[in-house]
Parts: sequence; C-alpha cells; structure tokens
Amino acid sequence: MSEKKLTPMMKQYMSIKSKYEDAILLFRLGDFYEAFFEDAKKISKVLQLVLTHRNGNDMAGIPHHALDNYLKKLVEAGLKIAICDQVEDPKEAKGIVRREVTRVITPGTVVEESMLVENQNSYLASVMEKDIFYCVLLDITTGYSMIFKRESWRELEDIIRKFDTVQLLYPEGIRHEKDIQLVKNQMKGLYTEALPGWYYNNDESVSQMKRVFKVKDISFLELSEDACSLFGATLKYLDLQHMNAFDHLSRPIFMDNSDKMILDNITVENLELISKRGDKTSYALFDVINQTSTSLGSRRLKDWLLSPLKDEKMIRNRLDHVRVFVDHQFLLEEINEYLDEVYDIERIISRLSYKKITPADFVSLRSTLRKIPQIISTLSEEETFSDIINKLDPLDALSLLLNNALKDEPDNQIGLGKTIKEGYSEILDDYRELLHGSGKKLKELEAYERERTGISGLKIKKNKIFGYYIEVSKSQTSKIPEDYVRKQTLVSSERYISDALKPIEEKLNSAFEMVEEIERQLFRELIDKTMGYIPLLKQNAFALACLDVYSALAKVAKDNNYAEPDFNTEGIMKIEEGRHPLVEWSFHKNKASSGQFIPNDIMMDKKKNFIILTGPNMSGKSTYLRQIALISLLAQIGSFIPAKAANLPILDRIFTRIGARDDLSSGKSTFLVEMSETATILNNATDESLVILDEVGRGTSTYDGISIAWVVSEYLYNTIQSYSVFATHYNELTELANIYNGMSNMCVKVLEENNEVVFLHKVTEGISSRSYGIEVAKIAGLPESVVKRAHDVLETITTEKNLDEKIRVLGLQQMENIKKKMQKNKVKKEKSRQIRMF
Ligand code: ATP
Repeated sequence: MSEKKLTPMMKQYMSIKSKYEDAILLFRLGDFYEAFFEDAKKISKVLQLVLTHRNGNDMAGIPHHALDNYLKKLVEAGLKIAICDQVEDPKEAKGIVRREVTRVITPGTVVEESMLVENQNSYLASVMEKDIFYCVLLDITTGYSMIFKRESWRELEDIIRKFDTVQLLYPEGIRHEKDIQLVKNQMKGLYTEALPGWYYNNDESVSQMKRVFKVKDISFLELSEDACSLFGATLKYLDLQHMNAFDHLSRPIFMDNSDKMILDNITVENLELISKRGDKTSYALFDVINQTSTSLGSRRLKDWLLSPLKDEKMIRNRLDHVRVFVDHQFLLEEINEYLDEVYDIERIISRLSYKKITPADFVSLRSTLRKIPQIISTLSEEETFSDIINKLDPLDALSLLLNNALKDEPDNQIGLGKTIKEGYSEILDDYRELLHGSGKKLKELEAYERERTGISGLKIKKNKIFGYYIEVSKSQTSKIPEDYVRKQTLVSSERYISDALKPIEEKLNSAFEMVEEIERQLFRELIDKTMGYIPLLKQNAFALACLDVYSALAKVAKDNNYAEPDFNTEGIMKIEEGRHPLVEWSFHKNKASSGQFIPNDIMMDKKKNFIILTGPNMSGKSTYLRQIALISLLAQIGSFIPAKAANLPILDRIFTRIGARDDLSSGKSTFLVEMSETATILNNATDESLVILDEVGRGTSTYDGISIAWVVSEYLYNTIQSYSVFATHYNELTELANIYNGMSNMCVKVLEENNEVVFLHKVTEGISSRSYGIEVAKIAGLPESVVKRAHDVLETITTEKNLDEKIRVLGLQQMENIKKKMQKNKVKKEKSRQIRMF
C-alpha cells in the first residue's frame, strides 16, 4: 500500500505496527480492536472471524468488552499480541486520537484470571549459555522465581519440561537454537522468543534488580554476574512488554544452593508425579494427594512434589504440622471450613501490582481476610502452628477499608455506580441520588405526557445518537402537542424531543458522567491504598498455602491409611508393607475392580544396597520399584506414606530408568534414549541416591544387553554405592548376587494352577524361574494358534542343545542362509581390507 493513499489513521497504524513486526497489533477503533492486513488474516483464522474489507484491505475486529476471551485463544495459538489503545480522550483530541501500545501479551506475561490455569504455575523461562548454563524461571502471576545453574543443555531442557514452562526466552545466536526448536515442537503451547544481546548487559541488570528488590546491594542474593545478567534481561523483557510492576516479586531462589532434591523430568514422568498440561485422561500421584481446598495450596503442593527436601529438620517440621491435623479431626474440619472461603490471593496480589485487579478480586480478598482471625484463633491452641500464626495478619485496616468501600456484591463493570458502597463517598452518593432521582423524574414525565396527550403507548427512551426522546407510534401522531419537535421518523413510529425533557436529559447526562468518573477515581484510589499492603498480603498467601497443604496431606493420610515415616542417618532403608499410592488409589477409585493391593516390604542398608528383582511379566516388578521411590519421595516432601511403617535415609536424588521409549523427533532411537538415561544416572548418582532400573539393555541384542546390564550393576554397586533396585527378565544377572555380598536376589511370586498363572504380587527372596511371557501374551489376546506355536518354539529352543540343531528343528532354513551370507561378507571385507593395506 503506497504511503500517499493512507488516511492519517492508517499512517498512525503503520508507524506503530513497524515497531511490533513480530506481534499481532490490535488497534483500538471505537468499540473494537481491529487487526489489519496479514494480522487480520491470522486472527480471523484462529478466532473464526469473518474478514472484512476496507479500501481493498483485510480487516478483522474484536469487540473490546470481549477482548480477554479472544486473547486467550490467540495466546494459546502461540501468537504474540500487542494491544494498541487510545491514550487520550477522543473528545479532547486535536486531529487524530493519540494511540500507543499499552501491553504486549505472550503466555508468560498473562495475569488475567480468565486466561490462567487455576492450580498451575505459569512459568516464563529465560536461558543463557556461558561456560555453564543458566535458567531463570519466573511466574509473574505469583511473583515466585528460581535460578538454576547446570552443566549441560540437556539438564536445562529438563527444567523447562519439568516445570511445564509456557514461554522460553533465549539470547539471539545461542548455539542450541535447534534444540530449542525441538523442545518447542514437543511441548504443546510453548512460546519461544530470541532476545538481542543488549538485553543481557550486566550493569543495567544489577541496577534493575536493585530497583525491583528495593535494595542498595544485591550481593545477599548470592548470584554470579551471569545469573544477574539473565535475571535482569528477564525483568527488562517484562518491562518492554509493559508488565513493569514488580512490587509483588519475591527474591529469586538459587536452586543449586537450596535444600531441595534435584528431580529430573524423566523421573517425574516415570514416577507419574504430575499429569501433562491439559491431560485429563490419566491420573498421577498429584491427583491422589491433591486434597487442597485452594488454588494457592494446590500450586504449593505441586511445587513441594517437584522439589522434595533434603534437610531432615525441614522435613520433620512439615510432618509435625501434618501429624497435628491427623490427630485432631475437629481441628482439621474447622480449618477446612475456613479454607473453603480462602481465594487465590497470590494471583490477586499480582493483578493488584499490575493495577489489573477487578472488583471481584477485591471481594475475594475481603472474604479471605475475614477468615484470618478465625484461622488464627483456631490454630492458637496448637503450638506447632505458631509459625503459621506469626505469618498471618488479618490486616484489620485493609479489611475495614474493603468492607466500607465495596458493595456486598459489587458490579465488575466500574463506573455504573454499582461497585462502590453507599456511604463511602458523599459526592458519589449525591450524583447517584441525582441519577436515581432523574430516573424517577423520567418515569413521572412519561406518565404526565401520556395523560396530557392521551397517547397510552407513549414512551421515553434513549439511544446513543439522539440521547433521550419521546416515541409515539405512527397511528397516534395526530395527538401530539405543539411543543414536541420531531427528531427522527421510523417505519412505524416518530421520535420527538420536548421542552420538558431537555433539562432532565442534561441533568441525567451529567450525573451519568459524574458517577462514572467518580467511581473510577475511587476505585483507582482503592488500588493505590491497597498496594501498600502487598508485602503483608504475600506473607498471608504463603502461610495460607502451607496451611492448606498440611491439611490436604493429613486428609490423604487419614483417607488412605498412610503412616508417618521415620528417618535415620545409618543408611537403613526399611519399608514395612509398602504400597504403590497410585495403583492402590486406582483400585479404590474403580469400584468395579475386585483388586486389592498386596503390600510388600523392602530392607536395604549400606552393606546390602543392591537388589536384583526377577519375576514374570505382569507380576508387579515395576509397581514394586516405583513404590519404593514414591514412598521415599512422599516422605521427603513431608507427607505420610502408603506403608505400615518406614525408616528411611534422606536421599539426595532419585533416579529412574524405566521402559522403552524413543525420541525420534530429536534423533534418538529407543536404545540411544535408554543408554543416555543410564549415562545420566552413572554420571550423577551418589551413595545417597536411590536408583531404580526397570530393565537396562533391552533395546539391543541379548548378549550386548546382558553385558551392559551386568556392568551397569557392577558400577552402581562398586563405584557409586547407591541404593539400587534392578528389575530384569535377564535371569543371567541373578549370578551377580553370588559374586557380590551386598547384592541380593528378590522375586515376585506366581502360582501355576491348571495351566493358568495366578499373580500373587508378593515379593520374596529368591529368583524367578520363568517370565511367563507367553501366558501374558495369551491374556493380551494373541490368536490361539500363535500362542500354541510360541509354546512349541519355546519348548524346542529350551530343550535342544546346540543352536544349529535348533535352527534345523524349527525349520528356519532362512536363518542358516543369512548366517552363511554373513560369513561370506566377512571374508570379502577382510580381503578388501588386505588389498587396501598393500
Ligand atoms: P512387566 O515385566 O510385563 O513389565 P511387571 O512385573 O513390571 O510386568 P507391573 O507392571 O508392575 O508388572 O504390574 C502389573 C499389574 O499388576 C499392575 O498394573 C497392577 O494392576 C498389578 N499389581 C502390581 N503389583 C501389585 C500389588 N502389589 N498388588 C496388587 N496388584 C498389583
């Protein structure tokens, strides 16, 4: 489009759009946000809007009052949106109304309630590679942030996946751009963006952080220069997105100095700790233990689950709180009644900080504050909860302010006079009275005019163009008095104004405007007054979230008969009658199932720390392995555990290598995935780690596999000395227990009755003699002829002595041919090698 032909408004549009090339620009025009050209095409496709055309140009519009709903879909579609608003009153504008971009929206910068998932953090990740890798995770909806330092890109990627981040920022030219594309393709809805180098200026970052955290020196954060640059770049990004209110941000936690266990994403997935974003079909451990009453609590619980503790004192402290609730049913019930009326004040605080708080948010905040005195008084009988009580503050002055300022059920649309309570502002009340009074006057005038004219159907109405008018149907126009002046003729009626109507209209209009202006002003003032309470409100949010988690864990413990774990420093891992929390839960949930979970024990110590577990398919090996890990993990988040009793060591990490999966999109075959997971374990596990291996070396030939499995076991046992449990169908590995004293063989028992296998799910000492794979294949529905033939083949290969004989008996002449061919090839290759050498 040539510049000449552009209207002044389109020139304004083009100039603004040129600064936001990578975003969809939504340009405010009257009651609509309009997108033009390519942007219009894109949004009409995503939102299924009809494209319109003006001067041959594509346009698509969104009604301004429905913006949030449409934004949600646009952001979910992976688009970046720039909102361009009118920043001056059109009435006062000389020429074209001034417009500016007031907000840029990406998934990690959304704070509006309607666009967020209630009990899920909304992490924006920012990564950087120097000699080492750094990652900042920042959730602006809660003000929570973490900083990680890692040795490899793979570990960084692990963090991005584990915390289900919604957005990823990285410096332009990063070496791992290809890997970033892969992650983007694999993680649904992940929005990625490259930032120019100047974002990462260290000096600017340091001053930015000092401003944000209101300190003169940031050394107390104990961050390296690079970590500071990265954190600063992330803040700068938010700044440029117009999300530059940082009052609600907590100081970042440097995770590598923390008391938290590192749990890699593979383990999170293998142990089924949390369901994937948006997955409503499968359950995870989180679903079993999430008996929280608030979104605050449910996000905190997820956070605890993903970062178990390593500090025994801290674990015991959490357990103490849970135990009080377990032991005092009435206390638990009462606190839960109060928690039911506690709202997501963490996110409300964030919206307050961005001045995007709504009247409904204020009401939720008010209800929450009203519950705090009751919670304090109920908890005060229990010394254990003094830490929570100390953090809780009823904020009486704020509570009173909100009580006085807002109606009991305020209208969310500010300016109609239905949000601020009567009695809070005399001047607002006066105008409101005038408004109501005028309304009454209009009714009186309507009645008077009907009587005066004898026109029974006469009505006083209002529209945006003419303001107030008197409407009379065509059939009655003969009766209208002289002082009526015609304004508009419609098909079936005429519209008039009159001398009596005019003054009322003027008063009404001014009252409308005044009510709107004053109520908006009062609401803005209310926001400003509340802002000062952000630090104390955050403290309340923190305490309420913890309280909710303690109560949830107590409910889970009571409902599912969990026991309190004990800990030792002697390296003993003893679990009596342990159960798998998720399998057990699914048995209960599925009432039709007659299944009952069979508990199992485990005993390991520093000397006997390696178990080789054999057992038929379907007998429960994987379940047993996972339950050991899950019990240890639950104990370390401060939860009771699904067991009769347990005495556990504090683990520094839990590693899992389970099953077969490929990662073809990143060029990794099944076996390569298996080996890289194994490598991670061997490179990172310590003598305080728990390693559970569910088959190693299955993705390659039998003998290669056995050899790898054998040496991996030896390495774990001899060099690392971790607590290891290795489930395998390679019976050859059971030999290891004859060589190494600290290794023992366990197996899962089955019964064979009338040619049928009965799974007992009981783990005992010993070695399983068979895998019963064919029996399981039969259960799975393989055709009967195939099952029968498999039995024949099995019998043959297990009874015939040498392989050649087996091949002959099976009639697999082809195999012999292949063998011969391979032999020939070998000879050929050797010859050509010799020729090359000379
Ligand atoms: P495979 O070798 O084929 O992988 P597996 O030995 O690892 O099999 P699991 O997957 O652990 O077997 O268990 C199979 C099923 O058996 C589980 O889904 C569960 O329904 C049931 N099961 C396992 N352990 C128990 C138990 N202790 N009590 C009751 N049922 C159990």
